[in-house]
Amino acid sequence: METAIKAPRGTRDVLGDESWKWAHVLDVCRDVARDFGYSEVLLPIFEHTELFCRGIGDATDVVEKEMYTFIDKGDRSITLRPELTASMARSYLEHDMRRAPQPVKLWSAGPMFRYERPQKGRYRQFWQTDFEILGVQDPMADLETIDTSMEIYRRLGLTNLQVLINSVGCPKCRPAYRDALKRFIESGPGGLEALCETCRGRFDRNPLRILDCKKLACKEITEGAPAILDSLCDECAAHFEDVTRGLERIGADARLDKRLVRGLDYYTKTAFEILAGELGSQNAVCGGGRYDNLAEAIGGPSVPGVGFASGIERIVITLEGQGVFLGDKPHVDVYVVTASNGLALEAAALAHELRASGIAADTDYAGRGMKAQMKQAAASGAAFVCIIGEDEAASGTVSVKNMSDGEQRSIARNEAASKLALWREERNR
Ligand code: AMP
Repeated sequence: METAIKAPRGTRDVLGDESWKWAHVLDVCRDVARDFGYSEVLLPIFEHTELFCRGIGDATDVVEKEMYTFIDKGDRSITLRPELTASMARSYLEHDMRRAPQPVKLWSAGPMFRYERPQKGRYRQFWQTDFEILGVQDPMADLETIDTSMEIYRRLGLTNLQVLINSVGCPKCRPAYRDALKRFIESGPGGLEALCETCRGRFDRNPLRILDCKKLACKEITEGAPAILDSLCDECAAHFEDVTRGLERIGADARLDKRLVRGLDYYTKTAFEILAGELGSQNAVCGGGRYDNLAEAIGGPSVPGVGFASGIERIVITLEGQGVFLGDKPHVDVYVVTASNGLALEAAALAHELRASGIAADTDYAGRGMKAQMKQAAASGAAFVCIIGEDEAASGTVSVKNMSDGEQRSIARNEAASKLALWREERNR
């Protein structure tokens, strides 16, 4: 027998037991976006490969190793988006949003694609929600960005999240730091050779990334490395000071992490990450920062920006890990049961009427006996079961069983919708 086809490695089906939690998370994102003045944009899932090569940077892991790139039938190189920031900046430029009052605040959510080694919390297709403030350099926009992400987690009921913050400087001050870091590594006991193979490759192309290597050997080598904060130019230092003062002022518990550099080249000044212990080794629930050079990198004028992306799978894992109560899985209000198959049409008609009155209803289509239908009704989570037997059909009534106390009463068929609406309200009160 042929083996049945499975979902590709690194992808997963989000089934009914879980998908309603996703819907809840996305609802909270949408509410926060509205409350903070963001407008939603729906962007393409694939873009020209060049957007990511230029906007993320050739020397990053994402571009070097992780992109899903293919040539389409028109001979164009196309890439499934690995993140949203570059697309957001592209969209801002393409629609000339510089003409609008600044800043422009955009948000979106959807699937991203990265060819990574799958593990808990790390997938090849995963969802992100992404919030960006484009067109202003004000450090208060950085502060608001961090607060926006925290507001999503606060409303979801997540606790014990650790905000890490750093500055990665700008093209004025970063080169000197880059050189200082390289000198430090080269003059260490094992020199360049002591680094892991990946970091040896990073040494010339992207040495800051060595700080963020998870390998013990590399961590030890960079242990006493100079901190980029000590190399910041006056402008970057003042910006960082304003953001950290702001965080203190709003009572956000943020910790300085001098190793936090972010993988992407377009980042300038503020870089931040939010960690959740429940996630294990893939512990970042959110990453973000300022990217004042992105728009130029993709061929536009200079447009500053700041934003964050948070992984939906990781939010859901953290919610489950922290045992946050999200309410019950959504279910129908009423299940309609018949005493015999001959009454199926009556059941369908009643379910139709109930739904038309805003009452969520379901019924059986598998020709089950009454006992089995009652089982289905219990499994559906419905608060009420409407039973139509021969007597009820003949007398224009329905028997309604309240599933929480088992009490059953007979009501007129033509009053079923209004009575059930009333009882549902009483029950939910
Ligand atoms: P990044 O775009 O790499 O800064 O990632 C931002 C956020 O997206 C991370 O903090 C995670 O929550 C999430 N994320 C990134 N990569 C993955 C992945 N492969 N699988 C699941 N979530 C991810």
